Amino acid sequence: MIKDIISNEEVKEFLKNELKIGKNSGTYLFYGSDMSLLMEFAIYFSQGLCCEAISGDFCGQCDTCKKIQKLVYSDLEILDNPDGIKVDEIRELAYKSSASSYEGGKKIFILKNISKMKKEASNALLKLIEEPNPGNYFILLNGNLNILPTIKSRSILVKIKNRSAKELGVDEFTYSFFRGNSEDILGFKSMDIKLEEGYPYGEIARAIRGYEESGELKFKINIYKAIRDFVNNRNYLKTYEKIYFAEEIVRATSDRNIYREIVSYLVNFMGDLNGLEERLTMKGMLRFPINTRAFFINLFLDI
Ligand SMILES: [Zn+2]
Repeated sequence: MIKDIISNEEVKEFLKNELKIGKNSGTYLFYGSDMSLLMEFAIYFSQGLCCEAISGDFCGQCDTCKKIQKLVYSDLEILDNPDGIKVDEIRELAYKSSASSYEGGKKIFILKNISKMKKEASNALLKLIEEPNPGNYFILLNGNLNILPTIKSRSILVKIKNRSAKELGVDEFTYSFFRGNSEDILGFKSMDIKLEEGYPYGEIARAIRGYEESGELKFKINIYKAIRDFVNNRNYLKTYEKIYFAEEIVRATSDRNIYREIVSYLVNFMGDLNGLEERLTMKGMLRFPINTRAFFINLFLDI
């Protein structure tokens, strides 16, 4: 039920009201820096819209609620492309939105990382939300409000604040290690891992490969620890050791999302040292690292 959700009291009130009004279609933009939390709220809201047992709330127990929770509900569509949702995907979505619903009720479309979409795809989405088919609900998720103004103006904006350390039941050290990411923190709480224990920077490739293959949090934690180890030792490392670190990363993976994750963790861990993040953003490097080997070597020699 909505009252049981931890954090964001004003958002909970808003969702309750929105469900009470019972609109026959709608577009919402949930924004905030914790994508896993945005997704969690999008799922609650979807359950609220579709629950068989309670109107204006969700029970979490009925078939529909359970299916939505497991992301197997046939009238729930999730679009998530780390490089930006493509125009073809939006066209397919348009087709689905005009077809009749499988379950005979509402159709929900959750679209992640709207700001990464290219112009053509954004315009196709715009058409879709300008005149939504009855029973269609679009829940757009984004880290911030830097999206196409025309999409923004047609969406109901809902800011989702990160959960605090207290709300997640962890200390500040744990909270900042995970940058407040609620999914990671909740996952970590059920594990037997000590964040204070080190993991050598020279072993980062092993952690990256493990993470790429399994997606498991324990490997992600080791990637973070390796970055921490590198930063803490950077003043004692020789140039060739820094280059080795960069090359290990590039050798371990070609997944640009992992590259982005490493850079953003590094920037976060170091604080904004000498405007590092701004310099990287200006060079377009956080979004499109072209020659990744050169990029990482420069980065690690620079800090
Ligand atoms: Zn239910």
